[in-house]
Amino acid sequence: MRVPQSVGGVRGAYVGARERAIGGEMGRMGSAPDASVESTAGPGAGGAPAPWSLAPDAVLAALRADAGGLGSADAATRLAEVGANRLPPPERDPLWKRVLVHFDDILIYILLVSAVLKAILGDWVDFTVILAVAVINAAIGFIQEGRAESALDGIRQMLSVHAETRRDGAWAKVDADDVVPGDVVRVRSGDKVPADVRLLQATNLRVEESALTGESVAAAKSVDAVAADAGVGDRTSMLFSGTLVAAGQGVGVVTATGEATEIGRIQTMISEVTSLETPLTRQLDRFGKALAVLILGMAVVMVLVGRLVHDFSVAELVSASIGFAVAAVPEGLPALVTITLALGVQQMARRRAITRKLPAVETLGSVTTVCSDKTGTLTKNEMTARSVRTGAREFAVSGVGYAPDGEVALVGPDGGRGRHADLTEDPDLAAVATVMMLCNDARIVVGGSDDGGAGGWRLVGEPTEGAVRTLGMKAGVDPVGWSRVAVVPFESENKFMATQDRDPDGGLHVHLKGAPDRVLDRCATQTSPAGASEPLDRAFWERQIDALGGQGLRVLAAARRSAPTDPAAELVETLTDLELCGLVGIVDPPRPEAVDAIAQCRDAGIRVKMITGDHAGTAVAIGREMGIVGAAAGGRDAGADAPAVLTGPELEAMTTEELRAVVRDVDVYARTSPEHKIRIVSALQAHGEVVAMTGDGVNDAPALTQADVGVAMGIKGTEATKEAAEVVLADDNFATIERAVEEGRRIYDNIRKSVLFLLPTNGAQSLVILVAVLFGLTLPLAPVQVLWINMITAVTLSLGLAYERAEPDVMRRPPRDPGASILDAVFVRRILVVSLLIGGATMLVFYAERAQDTPLAEAQTTAVTMLALGQLAYLFNCRFLDRSSVTLDVLRGNRVIWISAGALIALQCVFVYAPFMHDWFDAAPIGLEEWGKTLGLSVVVFVLVEGVKWWGARRH
Ligand code: ATP
Repeated sequence: MRVPQSVGGVRGAYVGARERAIGGEMGRMGSAPDASVESTAGPGAGGAPAPWSLAPDAVLAALRADAGGLGSADAATRLAEVGANRLPPPERDPLWKRVLVHFDDILIYILLVSAVLKAILGDWVDFTVILAVAVINAAIGFIQEGRAESALDGIRQMLSVHAETRRDGAWAKVDADDVVPGDVVRVRSGDKVPADVRLLQATNLRVEESALTGESVAAAKSVDAVAADAGVGDRTSMLFSGTLVAAGQGVGVVTATGEATEIGRIQTMISEVTSLETPLTRQLDRFGKALAVLILGMAVVMVLVGRLVHDFSVAELVSASIGFAVAAVPEGLPALVTITLALGVQQMARRRAITRKLPAVETLGSVTTVCSDKTGTLTKNEMTARSVRTGAREFAVSGVGYAPDGEVALVGPDGGRGRHADLTEDPDLAAVATVMMLCNDARIVVGGSDDGGAGGWRLVGEPTEGAVRTLGMKAGVDPVGWSRVAVVPFESENKFMATQDRDPDGGLHVHLKGAPDRVLDRCATQTSPAGASEPLDRAFWERQIDALGGQGLRVLAAARRSAPTDPAAELVETLTDLELCGLVGIVDPPRPEAVDAIAQCRDAGIRVKMITGDHAGTAVAIGREMGIVGAAAGGRDAGADAPAVLTGPELEAMTTEELRAVVRDVDVYARTSPEHKIRIVSALQAHGEVVAMTGDGVNDAPALTQADVGVAMGIKGTEATKEAAEVVLADDNFATIERAVEEGRRIYDNIRKSVLFLLPTNGAQSLVILVAVLFGLTLPLAPVQVLWINMITAVTLSLGLAYERAEPDVMRRPPRDPGASILDAVFVRRILVVSLLIGGATMLVFYAERAQDTPLAEAQTTAVTMLALGQLAYLFNCRFLDRSSVTLDVLRGNRVIWISAGALIALQCVFVYAPFMHDWFDAAPIGLEEWGKTLGLSVVVFVLVEGVKWWGARRH
């Protein structure tokens, strides 16, 4: 057992400190396993005051921590004592139970009943073989499930959570596993709370705690202590591990980690990658069961005919019906589908798309519309300020990236580069640059170049903010002496950020930067070229915004005012009557690979829509550059009446019907807020579209849930979005979505190939037995021989198709109908024909051998060999669904197929030549002539199936 999260030093010291601080009461800081038992109900009889009921300082003192955070050495010591901040994985069933589950299967029941019947008849060899096969079959299921599980385990690992903690005096991102009691952590909207935390600061903080309290409305949090006996839902001064921050920001000290947290005590894993079951596996499961019933019915008919018409003995009939039942049930199918899905998911993760929910893999293959964010997904999210516009002038900014190397120059009347700008000579530029510098949380630091930094300069924070901070540095603004008094952080809904700052002389100022329309609405005046205030010319600014947006630039506006004297006024209430200083145009180059991916989506009949918070002009310009605007996909023409772009406010003014009428034809949605996304998805779904939707912000979660495939951003995305998503993009890149769709189509194809391959094995075998009994002929296959064939194809051949590469046309055909069954009419026909061909060939060789007086064992062995080789030949037909396999490609591209084929032949040789197999399976050695005949007939099967494929394709 692991050491509980808060024993030894930390707790001991804490208790000691508490004894001094609060008069010797036994302490618990939500972490002592012994004391935490009564935690939900508050501290029980004899319990001490709990952290939620203490003042922040008392909690800090008790944890031997301070608001400045821990030192990394202290944190490491605490981690060693307390253990990782992790919940133990949910308890797994014991091994014997997990093995036994694989016997809980209708086929195994049939096998076990057959074994008992064999025992009653005194046929001990068959009894043993059947039992052995039942065990081997269960073992195969068990091993395959283990492989699938470990594939998913690997993926779970990739979804690790980070926490922002204060270590050595600075904020640092650490693995949530490394958080310890006493750490000071910071959370903001969209984050998952990494541990149980006593708040030290809270700004508009609301937290969604339904995992703990069942309450889906987000709870407001504050620093004020609450009663010691408050229930979990009323502990408003605490944040609980695993809950999601819905809005605002907070800073607090960790009181408990891992198992000692509230969530740890109720042992629920909130974020779980779902199980191996999917709609498809359920569909196949149902199919298997229905088939089993049909088989039993047919077995009864067979027995009656055999007994009444042909006078077979009871022993023969028992043998035949066991053989028939065993032959007809496709027992390998569910395991095969599961392993194909799991391998596919692993492959997708390698291509940077992490699947959280297995069914999404199937849905991905039928996606018809992808709705994507712009910034960071379609574009690089490497922002550089290019242009500054003030009331009278324009400035050009040189340099790339976040390095402050470059200059700001005045643009001459002819559009050429003019003199170098100067803060004293150009007070209008100074105003814009100062606002951008102060109303900013990004830092440009030297050292390391992993964040796109040039010349060792690196951005810590948001790219948009980084771009304007670099601009401030290039312009020469020096923020030394300024201090921040209050902040309204940037939220996607507001589209602005505001700060109140004190200048070096003690004067208070309000600074606002944000989307230009939002800022304009709050302005009454503008900065004159001399730096004074003059009346606002709104029409002028709107023209400027359109001009900058038309060049595909992201536009930010800057505004300022002196702070009102009323000290009680909330900052957000003072954001009126501001002075507009100017605009900044920022480039964010498209990702070249996204442009290609969009073209590929178009070929695949998938329409791409851009949904962005950016200005309409910017969005259309980027959309055009990327091939989203002005291109119709999937054979649909863009509606003549549909506008090129729809903005959030326009969308709000529309009724649901009006939106539905245009939603398919509008490809760019600008100035949107997260709640618009959900309307867009619903409107598209009303047309039967299968929608993949990307998101990163906390408020995108409902839209991702509504979409058929929710796609979260792994880097930029909040934890809340990741939890709502089916797929997480490790690199935030649109091209990865396209690859995931391609992968989804490949996996679905491979499952179809596997089904198409496996079912005729059963068809052919049952046909052989059925025909023999109905016509009163000798059985070409003994039940144990049928088991042999089923087993060797399951362990060898069928696995090969899971590794099949994508067909070359996989992204050139239209999306799959999501409602269509995996077994369509063409497939059922092909399965029947192939069953007839392989079954026919088997009967042919058997009765031909018998006609030449070959002994039964030898003739049956030839029949078994025919089945094995026939299946092997058919495997090559199945490598390509509709494409002809009469090509050299059929020999290339999948090594596993050859390994499987080699294994099958080796096993079959053991069957034919190993003496012990002769005893167990009634096999007998066969000669070269028999091998030749069966091989020849297999080639005939291959050619005929190709003929069937060709005929089907022609009719199609
Ligand atoms: P997408 O949905 O494509 O990612 P986006 O990133 O442009 O779009 P938001 O981040 O919601 O969407 O930004 C919307 C607008 O808010 C931007 O166009 C910009 O004008 C403004 N904005 C973005 N970041 C900031 C910020 N840090 N401070 C102030 N304003 C900002």
